[in-house]
Amino acid sequence: MLYQPQVHADGTVVGAEALLRWKHPKLGLVSPADFIPAAELSGQILPLGAWVLQAAGQTLAQWAQTPLLSALALSVNVSARQFLQPDFVDQVASTMRQFDIAPQRLKLELTESTLIHDMDDIVRKMHCLHALGVGCALDDFGTGFSSLSYLKRLPLDQLKIDQAFVRDVLTDPSDAAIARTVLQLGESLGLSVIAEGVESTGQRDFLLENHCRLFQGYLFSRPLSLSDFEAYVAHRTPEILDASGFMQRN
Ligand code: C2E
Ligand code: CA
Ligand code: CA
Repeated sequence: MLYQPQVHADGTVVGAEALLRWKHPKLGLVSPADFIPAAELSGQILPLGAWVLQAAGQTLAQWAQTPLLSALALSVNVSARQFLQPDFVDQVASTMRQFDIAPQRLKLELTESTLIHDMDDIVRKMHCLHALGVGCALDDFGTGFSSLSYLKRLPLDQLKIDQAFVRDVLTDPSDAAIARTVLQLGESLGLSVIAEGVESTGQRDFLLENHCRLFQGYLFSRPLSLSDFEAYVAHRTPEILDASGFMQRN
């Protein structure tokens, strides 16, 4: 599993997204984009998802022991099939108990494709997770089944602007408009908004100008091994940030 930093506009690392990797004996590291769809179809996503949740619990328990890392949140991707399991909320709750984790440290990333299923079941589960203190983010926002009415019903904490919009935010006026709209939507619904796939200072500056405060992407860091991520947090000092011009507290 790799960890990609999530960075606040004030320069602090606020957490990471856990990204699965499969070490194939011949092919090397295989991206989840190449095996998650097949795992979804075969049902293998269920043991895989359970493993990811366990690994996240272990990491958060480890971070809780270190002052520098104890406030970080870890976002975990949850596939539709995994979320739809009747005992999904129990799985999350028991993982937190097992590792004695503060629920606020865990965030679940759901995609819009999850929401096309039994909406009442989803709303009920999300309320249970919310009551536990576990946050939910809507991943790849704007790419799928986009109905604003469901946003109102879901106890979401965060919207994630899809990287497809971030990529062309400087060159494609409609992508820029979508990114701006997601940011305004987050503001009016009281949700935090994070932009993913931020690769250039130009993209970051556009997002900053439009009140985006949370960023993830190669500009800050590629996904890292756990020890490299921990070193990244330790070395991301204010001095370095001042030099890049990004450390303007506001
Ligand atoms: P995602 O959740 O949208 O994750 C973001 C993807 O964008 C990651 O690809 C990440 O490495 C990549 N990325 C991050 N920053 C940049 C950037 O600046 N530029 C570009 N071009 N790409 C960037 P990755 O790790 O290959 O994951 C692909 C997808 O696989 C994820 O998309 C997610 O849907 C899925 N996935 C990953 N881990 C898990 C998991 O544990 N469980 C489930 N169900 N799905 C997972
Ligand atoms: Ca994600
Ligand atoms: Ca995404």
